[in-house]
Formats: sequence, structure tokens, C-alpha cells
Amino acid sequence: MEPGIIKKLDEAVVNRIAAGEIIQRPANALKELIENSLDAKSNYIQITIKSGGLKLLQIQDNGTGIRKEDLEIVCERFTTSKLTKFEDLTNIATYGFRGEALSSISHVAHLTIQTKTAQVACGYKACYEDGKLKAPPKPCAGNQGTIISIEDLFYNMPQRKQALKSPAEEFQKLSDVVSKYAVHNSKIGFILKKFGEQPTIKTNVGSTQEQNIRYIFGANIAKELLPIEIEDNIHKFRLKGCVTKVNYSAKKGIMMLFINHRLVDSAALKSAIDSVYSAYLPKGMHPFIYLSLDLEPTNIDVNVHPTKHEVHFLYEDDIIEKIKTYIEIQLLGSNDTRAFYKQLKLPGVVENNENEDNRGSKSEVDKVQPKEIIRTDAKEQKLDKFLITQQNPTQHIKTEFNTSQSSLSQSMNDESFRVTAANISKEVRLTSVLNMQKRVENNCSVHIRKTLKEMVFVGVVDKHFALFQYETRLYLCHTLKFCEELFYQRLLFKFENLPQIKVEPKLPIKQLIVLALNTEESGWTEEDGDKSELASRAATILVEKAAIMREYFSLNISDKGELETLPCLVENHCPSNIYLPLFLLRLATDVEWETEEECFETFCRETARYYTIVSEVELLSDVNRHNWIVEHIIYPAMKRYLLPPNKLKKEMYELTSLPKLYKVFERC
Ligand code: ADP
Ligand code: MG
Repeated sequence: MEPGIIKKLDEAVVNRIAAGEIIQRPANALKELIENSLDAKSNYIQITIKSGGLKLLQIQDNGTGIRKEDLEIVCERFTTSKLTKFEDLTNIATYGFRGEALSSISHVAHLTIQTKTAQVACGYKACYEDGKLKAPPKPCAGNQGTIISIEDLFYNMPQRKQALKSPAEEFQKLSDVVSKYAVHNSKIGFILKKFGEQPTIKTNVGSTQEQNIRYIFGANIAKELLPIEIEDNIHKFRLKGCVTKVNYSAKKGIMMLFINHRLVDSAALKSAIDSVYSAYLPKGMHPFIYLSLDLEPTNIDVNVHPTKHEVHFLYEDDIIEKIKTYIEIQLLGSNDTRAFYKQLKLPGVVENNENEDNRGSKSEVDKVQPKEIIRTDAKEQKLDKFLITQQNPTQHIKTEFNTSQSSLSQSMNDESFRVTAANISKEVRLTSVLNMQKRVENNCSVHIRKTLKEMVFVGVVDKHFALFQYETRLYLCHTLKFCEELFYQRLLFKFENLPQIKVEPKLPIKQLIVLALNTEESGWTEEDGDKSELASRAATILVEKAAIMREYFSLNISDKGELETLPCLVENHCPSNIYLPLFLLRLATDVEWETEEECFETFCRETARYYTIVSEVELLSDVNRHNWIVEHIIYPAMKRYLLPPNKLKKEMYELTSLPKLYKVFERC
């Protein structure tokens, strides 16, 4: 057979093919044109569409306009007013920089530019074909700004035209692009309309992002938004935007990501955010996400192909990890999440949903050294295995009242505490509480939070300490210190929404306080006066303040001075009743009842202290039960809820790590 003859392709055909790569559908062209209008400092952009953009795609702006003398070359490839030296590439503030958009469009459609700058009296109109002016620009009337009309897109590329979707679907894609740019550039007025019809999108000049989200995406999304703002000096990035709280979810999630104001995709960031939400949202449901990420221009790979909206940037993994953790903390901090958890995990069920383990995927890539092989499932092996085997103590929490001096010990039998869940969730409006919550969120150590989330419980050491494993390291953790913070935070974040532990039968607080005064811990001395009188006074204070405790903390004291309920801070957990008398005494004497924020602060601290304390008596009588509670109730709750403050770092001691042990054994 004769060999094929190699011919040089006609230049116009080459250009057309290249242009078709860049402009694949009307929505690509529109994105480029909107970015040009934004670069030209417009504050008003109107888009008119005929037949899904195939017959006509027109964009009108009120920007700077194009100078008459530039009209000659504006559609030539690599002509741009935005970049002159190579170094400029590393410092691009404007969107366009390749000077390829208009040129490409002129190769695959009939392109007309009508434009007027502020400096000249009249406008000009010019038509282009294959990157060149068809005739000298003609003067015409018009306002300052530019109208770019693209007609008969792909008239010379029938296959490409055929590959497009229906006009309705193409219009939807155009509408998506306009929606996203309208949210991101909320100060600019956008109009999108089909030719001869009323606008389908119309945003006002100077509106806020929130207003535009509400208008375009609906009130359901707008009312669930959580603002996002990160400023990071280490990796030099800034993130702003908003995400929906866990109450909202939809089958079709919306993810809008702008990097340095360019609409892009990042599969890595998307999947990181999805993984955060997957813990909260029903399977197959997604959030609404709008993020605007500003990176150092030098850290972005600018040379990506214009059709590749997928971007990569320097320190991508670290930055994504930070964003992920931040969003997670925001979600955890939002009241809805708390309410949501409450719905999902009513007391009485001990669940463990936290099995996501990213380490698996990592080990596929890296060759794993034996010293790095880690146990990832607490069920595999625990300390218990080496001790006497035990049965799980019953999930039902028994409470015994062991103060022998009192007849109360009979009345507070095993069944005396019963948990009831409050099922209405109220929104916290008190600034004092919101401030306290904010402080907790701001103090949260991302590192400890991650450690807690991914740790594997090893075993209880004693009343104070437990062991857990994180990656290849073994930690000794001061359970009580963590625990107190956990209870404190639960009081704050479930403020007004705490389920109750019923105290049955009700307990007279005055008598309880007398009991407390009889203990050494109360610090009572002769000078303090008669115990019964003191107890009466303390009880009166508590009855007076009962409304606050009832309304905000689910702690009910009746008018008759009887304790009816205590707050349930962590599912299946009950405080020690041995210290209940002392707790009530402290509430009367140590809580600052008079000023709002101080009152909440001292009340929460006292209560957290009481819930944390483990009595020797209980420990001696049933150490297994204590250990079971620590492992199955306390640590899982820490994993789930605790936003650990930095100061807890010193309560976690690294005992050893596998690599260190290996060094020891290698010497043997
Ligand atoms: P780039 O945006 O990369 O510079 P384009 O092909 O998109 O390349 O545009 C070429 C040039 O045309 C721009 O640099 C700009 O000077 C001019 N231009 C395009 N659209 C507009 C507009 N709407 N208003 C003012 N000037 C524009
Ligand atoms: Mg451009």
C-alpha cells in the first residue's frame, strides 16, 4: 500500500482545533467573558442568551472599554493588556493573562465587539473571523463599556456542535456560571436573560454575598450558613466564605471554589470537605459550600491549561488539612451539630461511628516499615487482655448513695437517676454564652483535636490516667483534666438544651447540704456557725436561683427545695452521688450569681468539677465499672465533642513510640 502523504494542516484549521480545546461549550466562553468584564472594572454585567448560547451569547458591561487602536489586534492569539514580561506571570492579579479567549472564540464563532472608552466621544464596532478584523471598526453610538456578541458558536465545527447538550441544558450551565460569579462578586450587578424574556437572574449592584445566596440558592440554604474565615501566616493563605450547618443537606451538593477569584475545581479539597460532612449528613447527601481562597500568586500553578479547571497549588495537602480541621471545628461548635448529635444519639445507646481511617490509603502508597505498623482498631488488643478478663458491666449506670450517716442512702437506690432527653432544641442568643463558646473554639488546639479523634484507646491505668495510642506513639493521658474540660464544654454548647437526669425520689437540698457540711472537704469550722442554719441559708440561695439553673442547665430544684433533676452532659454518664451534697454546697457558696457571664462561667466550672470527680468508695467497690465507663463513655465522648484547649498538651505524655522502641531492641 502507498504510504499516506503527510501534509501540513491549514493554519486556520490548526487554530480552530486549538480554539475548540479551550472553548468546549457556551459556558466556557461565558466564564472567560465574565472574567474579562470583571478585569475591566465593570460593576454591571448583563448576559443575553439565544438557544442555550448557540445562536447568541452576548455580554454587556460598563467597564473601561477597549481603545480603538487595540481593536485591530485584540483577537490575535497571545494579545493581552494584562501581561508583558515573563515575571508578571508570577504576580497576576487579574483573571485573564494568556490573551487566548477572544482569539479562540473568533475561530469558532462569529464575534462582534462594540466598545467605548471614557476618553473618546463615540464608540466603535468591529467584527472578527479567525482572529482577524473583517473590516475596519465602524463608529457607532453607545455608552462606556463593551458589548461582546458571539453568534453561531461552532458553526464551523459540526461535530463539536453535535456533542453539545440541549439548549435547555446548556442554558442551565450558563446559569450556574452566572450564579457562582454573582455570589462571589456580590457588589456587581448581574443579569442573565434569554433574548426577549424577563431576566432569570438579576442581582443588585452593591448587594452582599448572603443576599445573593438567598436570592439565587434559596432561603433554606441562606438560613443555615456558617461563616468561614481563616488567615494563615505559615502557608500564607486566606480563606473566606460560608458553608451550611449540618441541619441542611441536599442530594445535589453545591461546591463553589474560587482561588484568587478564579472559579476552579479542586477534587482534593472537595473530597476533604465531603469527608468532614459525611460524619453528619445522611448517606448520599451533601452540603452547600462557597469558599474563596487567596493564595500567594507564586504558590499557584498558573500554567494550567485553560480548560483544566482542576487546580493544584503549593502546600496543597497542608492547606487542605487546615481547612478541613477548621470546618470541622466550626461544625462541632455550631449549636445545630450539638442538637443533631442529640437527635442521633439519644441516651441509652452507645455507638461508635468514628471508624474512618485514612491511614489505610496512605500505607498503600508508602512502603510500611514494621516499626510503623500500627494497631488501628481498639478491638484488636487492649490492656484488659493481659489482665483478668471481665464482662462488660451493664450499660445501665447504677448509682449508690453511700453516705452512711444518712437515711438518704436508702432513698437514693440504684434506680435513683434516670435520664430523660429534652427534645426541643433552642437557639442560644445570650452574648455571654456565645462569647464563652467562641473562646473555647478559639483556644482549640487542632493538633490535640486530631490526636483525640484518631487515637485508639489502650486501657485505664488508674483513676487519673489512661493510655492511648496515636499513630506509632503511646500516650499517658490525664483523664480527669480532659474530662473536666469536656463537661465544661458540654454545659456551654448544650446550654438550654441539656437532657435531664431524673433524681427519684426527689432529694431535699437542705439535708444534703448538712451532709456536706459534715465532711472534711467542706472546710466547715466552728466560726462558720450552726450547720443547720448555714444549710438553710445555702438552700434558700439555691431556691432563689432555681430558675436560672432550670432554664439554662436542666438542673431542677423545686420551690420546696428538692432536687428533681441534674443535667445529663454525656450520654450514659451520671455524676457520683457521693459528692452531690458538696456540689450543692459549692453552688450556693462558690457561684458568682450576680453577673451574667461570671455566673455561667463559675456554674459551669463547678458543675464540671463535680461531674469529673471519681470517689474512692465507688472505685473500690467496683473498679471494673469505673474502667468501663472511662473507656466506653468518657473517651468516646472526648473523641466526639471535646475541643481541647492548648493547655491540655501538658496533660498528655508521650511514653514511647514504636520507632524509639525499635532503636532499643536493635541494640539487643
Ligand atoms: P486576556 O483576558 O487573557 O488578556 P482575552 O482574549 O480574554 O485575553 O482578552 C484580550 C484583551 O481584550 C484583554 O487583555 C483586554 O485588554 C481586552 N478586553 C477583553 N474583554 C474586555 C472587556 N469586556 N472590557 C475591556 N477590555 C476587554
Ligand atoms: Mg480574558
